[in-house]
Amino acid sequence: MERLTNKVALITGGGSGIGRATSLLFAREGAKVVVVDYAPEGGEETVRRIRADGGAALFVRADVSKSAEVQQMIATTVDTYGRLDILFNNAGIEGPSAKIVNYPEAEWERVIAVDLTAVYLGMKYAIPQMLKQGGGVIISTASVAGMVGFPGSGAYGAAKAGVIQLTRTVALEYASKNIRVNCICPGVIRTPMAQRVMGDRPEEVTVRMEPIGRLGTPEDIAYAALFLASDESSFATGAPFIIDGGYVAR
Ligand code: NAP
Repeated sequence: MERLTNKVALITGGGSGIGRATSLLFAREGAKVVVVDYAPEGGEETVRRIRADGGAALFVRADVSKSAEVQQMIATTVDTYGRLDILFNNAGIEGPSAKIVNYPEAEWERVIAVDLTAVYLGMKYAIPQMLKQGGGVIISTASVAGMVGFPGSGAYGAAKAGVIQLTRTVALEYASKNIRVNCICPGVIRTPMAQRVMGDRPEEVTVRMEPIGRLGTPEDIAYAALFLASDESSFATGAPFIIDGGYVAR
């Protein structure tokens, strides 16, 4: 039995890493998937894989930090598939690694725009459509970096902590309207972003930080998103779901 039959899902950052894995999984579970990304190559490849597997998907290019483009991606979803049941605010950037004194102002603005303002914009413009339909689900990708400090990641950590708090606030604002709002806090997940952050450091060094003894996979996060998107999580709202191999439990 497919868990997302007749659902329409919009997934940002769907051209890579966690977003791609979630797009493929949601499509296998019966959802029609709107894959949003900044650059077309990755997003179009995700759509190609979904269609090759017999699923339904559409690529929409958008910079999720721009209000007009967020409004357009939601309008295109509703024009194409008639509704929007699941919004996964997942696109993100890591920004530079620098202590706060050396953190460039322009990079601060960019990280906050893509990692936090974009989540606000997604919620702001998806919720009116969900209210019209009688409900919906919003999931955002925060991070364990929004729960514990990582020196050098001031903007990223502040943005992800902001996503967790925005999740709680908006969940309470719409709990009575059948709109559930949750976020996922991944630990280190093997994606192009993590490869960039790990740089030339041997992978064993990062793995040693993970109590469970391995890095996470994009599918580890996709399955958490599937639970939160499906009706199986109908009592869950306003919560950060930590999927980190035990990292913050120490
Ligand atoms: P990824 O492989 O780099 O994928 C992120 C995707 O988002 C890329 O396709 C990227 O496009 C896209 N994107 C970036 N800025 C965008 C914008 N302004 N508008 C639209 N799309 C944009 O990274 P990932 O690891 O899957 O990350 C997904 C989410 O998980 C992020 O929010 C990240 O912060 C979070 N996260 C990741 C980890 C980890 O260890 N990987 C841990 C905790 C949280 P381009 O490649 O063209 O820039």
